Amino acid sequence: LTIPQLLREAVARHGAREALVLSEQGVRLTYRAFAERVDALAAGLLALGLKKGDRIGIWSPNRLEWVLTQFASARIGLILVNINPAYRVNELEYALNKVGCAALVTAARFKTSDYLGMLRDLAPELATAEPGQLQAARLPALRAVIAIGEEAHPGMLRFDDVACAPDVAALDAIEAGLSPDDAINIQFTSGTTGRPKGATLTHRNIVNNAARVTDRIDLTEADRLCIPVPLYHCFGMVMGVLGAVSKGATMVFPGEAFDPVATLDVLAAERCTGCYGVPTMFLAMLQDLEDNPRDLTSLRTGIMAGALCPVEIMRKVQSRMHMTEVTICYGMTETAPVSFQSFTDDPLDKRCETVGRVHPHLEVKIVGEDGAIVPVGQRGELCTRGYSVMQGYWGEPEKTAESIRDGWMFTGDLAQFDEQGFCSIVGRVKDMIIRGGENVYPREVEEFLMSHPKVADVQVFGVPDAKYGEEVCAWVVPERGETLDAEELRAFARGQIAHFKVPRYIRLVEGFPLTVTGKPQKFIMRDQEVELQG
Ligand code: ATP
Ligand code: MG
Repeated sequence: LTIPQLLREAVARHGAREALVLSEQGVRLTYRAFAERVDALAAGLLALGLKKGDRIGIWSPNRLEWVLTQFASARIGLILVNINPAYRVNELEYALNKVGCAALVTAARFKTSDYLGMLRDLAPELATAEPGQLQAARLPALRAVIAIGEEAHPGMLRFDDVACAPDVAALDAIEAGLSPDDAINIQFTSGTTGRPKGATLTHRNIVNNAARVTDRIDLTEADRLCIPVPLYHCFGMVMGVLGAVSKGATMVFPGEAFDPVATLDVLAAERCTGCYGVPTMFLAMLQDLEDNPRDLTSLRTGIMAGALCPVEIMRKVQSRMHMTEVTICYGMTETAPVSFQSFTDDPLDKRCETVGRVHPHLEVKIVGEDGAIVPVGQRGELCTRGYSVMQGYWGEPEKTAESIRDGWMFTGDLAQFDEQGFCSIVGRVKDMIIRGGENVYPREVEEFLMSHPKVADVQVFGVPDAKYGEEVCAWVVPERGETLDAEELRAFARGQIAHFKVPRYIRLVEGFPLTVTGKPQKFIMRDQEVELQG
């Protein structure tokens, strides 16, 4: 299926059902009404002269306009380029030019960022440009800037004006020319380990993966799925939006940016049955729930993914948020994204401690440093192959060839299988600490330190060391209201884990540097730690 076909099927089967609810924006639309809005926008984009294969950027937090743009661009074969809401001028310029965006749909502002101001800085030509005919020295490919909001701005088109084109007659013929193997989306990776990379994905990659992901949580048209994760990321736009549409479920967006209090309020008020999140989001919700209980009895299922999922958090999500069927997924942007997931009825321990079993229609293997497959139970780099592997990194054939060899995506993650095929993610190849010749897996140390009652969250990484090559460092967030000192924690670890795994450095912090998707960025922590140590 292509993305437009997916939506058409949802309308045919579930046209009168609620497709989406945006609590902060105050919007509710049925599938039929949503599809009409999509067509009106698609026709508007077409009238701007955009055509199949052109790139259209979207720079906005979670709003209706994001989802409309996602489907409208696909309807006429435009390649949607997800632009990180946290980007600033330099990164925006890099992303737009990297892929040559001809159009950009942009929010006016987000949090403290003035998006339109940043655009004007980059393209002062906007002041005098005819809307839709921009020619800017620093953004040579960009023609049309489409601004969300009531106000009109010089040189820019208003989203609502573009999104109400009456002439939808041409759309079906254009759609008929689309193939499931056309590139339809460039998604940037999270930037957990460095500069984000633009993964080029096809309809086939993401439509199929979305359906497989929501199969595993038994999602149906009766479900109301809460999506607090950013749309800009595959977790939101593929597993969330396309996953919900593939089942005719209702999507519930609590707000533009993640807020634990608002999300909990919406979960209760909208009687949601499912919820997505990365571990840090669930942790924040669990903390708020302790002070402000809510009725979450409607909740049943959901997905925790995106980063290592601590067993403690998984257990609490099941017991305190009623998500008894919650599953863990493992995946990456480059593989559309998910390749492993638990089933809702897997034994609790497996569901908490592993990322489940492989998705259908995918091949997987774990290889050692020599490239040979390692025996079951041993660790190595996880590789995946099949329908979900991206076309490549846009404009980076060398990086693509490094990551995809013989059709195998080399994930950069360390994993191991058990006899029943359950997969455990042990960490990233890059994050493994080698201290004086001993391999230290940060995950193992993190899990151990998490078992201390006063520890709420912890990140372990290596810092350079003259004697041992690397030393183990832990950044620790104490439970709220608790005081904790480094020596206490070190004493707790001694005798319990091998001496070379006991962190030499422990720093108590209030939180971690995070990507917009809420992932801890160890490379930044490492730099900051080195700087703090002088
Ligand atoms: P970048 O590639 O830019 O450094 P990133 O790898 O974090 O960032 P994503 O594609 O968003 O970008 O995330 C995929 C990565 O997230 C995986 O390679 C893996 O390291 C991690 N990950 C995802 N799900 C899980 C999980 N359930 N358990 C452990 N790690 C996970
Ligand atoms: Mg990655």
